[in-house]
Amino acid sequence: MSNERVLIAGAGPVGLAAAANLVRRGVPVTVLEAGAGLSEESRASTFHPPTLDMLHTLGAAQPLIAQGLKAPQFQYRNKAHGLLAQFDFGAIADATQHPYRVQCEQSKLTRILLDGLHHEPNFEIAFGSEVAGVTQDGAGVEVAIERNGKTERRAGRFLIGADGASSAVRHALGIEFEGFTWPDRLLVVSTPFDFHSVIPGLTAVNYVADPVRWHFLLQIPELWRIMFLVNEDGSDERVQTRGFAQSLMSTVVPGISNYDIDHITLYKVHQRVAKTFQRGRAFLVGDAAHINNPLGGMGMNGGIHDAINLTDRLAEVWHGEKPAAELDRFDKQRRGVTLEYIQKYTIQNKQNLESPGDEFRQNLQAIAADAARTRDYLMRVSMIASLARAAELG
Ligand SMILES: Cc1cc2nc3c(=O)[nH]c(=O)nc-3n(C[C@H](O)[C@H](O)[C@H](O)COP(=O)(O)OP(=O)(O)OC[C@H]3O[C@@H](n4cnc5c(N)ncnc54)[C@H](O)[C@@H]3O)c2cc1C
Repeated sequence: MSNERVLIAGAGPVGLAAAANLVRRGVPVTVLEAGAGLSEESRASTFHPPTLDMLHTLGAAQPLIAQGLKAPQFQYRNKAHGLLAQFDFGAIADATQHPYRVQCEQSKLTRILLDGLHHEPNFEIAFGSEVAGVTQDGAGVEVAIERNGKTERRAGRFLIGADGASSAVRHALGIEFEGFTWPDRLLVVSTPFDFHSVIPGLTAVNYVADPVRWHFLLQIPELWRIMFLVNEDGSDERVQTRGFAQSLMSTVVPGISNYDIDHITLYKVHQRVAKTFQRGRAFLVGDAAHINNPLGGMGMNGGIHDAINLTDRLAEVWHGEKPAAELDRFDKQRRGVTLEYIQKYTIQNKQNLESPGDEFRQNLQAIAADAARTRDYLMRVSMIASLARAAELG
């Protein structure tokens, strides 16, 4: 096996987007995935317009749209006033090929990306291969892999750590994951209940503010996902019981308290950013590089933006079209924009939803009433503005 490859740790949405972009640009790739197959876990469900534009280049947008729901509008509501404001991505249709969010489980994207790569001669994937160590010199990288109870080694010219929040690559490189963990936890409850039948005018993406118990209500094909912040005492086991989930669900629509529940999942919520996204020939992307609360749906989307930013540059360096110094721009742009945009706005989104409400409501309504402010707002929440800002950073 030639060492002339890029190694990617992790076959999540970010690692496979990186692989697809490199292979498309003629760079040989080996993906090392710890799991026995692709993860089926349902975490991200919102794909933003510029992410869909990038996935279109990889041939993945159309199949994703076919398996998901198009959500051109989204709403803010609160419990006291009902609908506060509705926004429509049609107002920025000149800035994207996809003026809508797509609501679809992230596990559908990983399957689509892998199916598109399987027949490619420059692509290889090894499941059951857990990256456990990294060494490097001026010419390449070598990773230690735990596989079938034995340690194997693989060499490559570069390494991309896309191995999620507990990244072994980040640990092996000795990179700190700076930030904090919120004291409250996030409970995600999914139900086939048809909320359109009881909340007139509801869209597929709805944020419901409340100082005591906010939630958001997201539709995916065949299910709704309702996310609540849990800040009371109580063991993880207790808050994941059906009884507790039903008690939260009963706050969503007055008078409805007994839902069919498909899944109950509890998550810790963090805001952390790696101290650097690059060490020599090794890079961090996606959750390995940054994690944030899910308000605004920016974690996976930002991770796919990292993957495309990095692999566009890697392909140019690989083919000798740009000097190696081109790679330094990845950290400047993506770490910079992660700190000043993704971290800032996800924290602000959480604080807005749990604020007493009047200022947030008045501000939203003022934005919705003004076409120029609506446009700026949509450029920001769609993450198009984050890409423009990243380009300014280095
Ligand atoms: C409830 C919830 C809702 C969310 N909603 C959204 C949303 O709507 N939009 C959004 O943008 N983001 C959302 N997110 C965040 C999103 O899920 C993550 O940002 C996304 O999964 C990151 O993708 P990734 O590929 O970087 O990492 P992961 O999806 O974690 O994939 C990492 C992969 O690496 C593998 N791996 C781990 N360790 C190793 C190792 N040592 N060696 C080899 N392989 C390894 C894992 O098995 C896994 O396959 C949400 C998160 C949660 C919890």
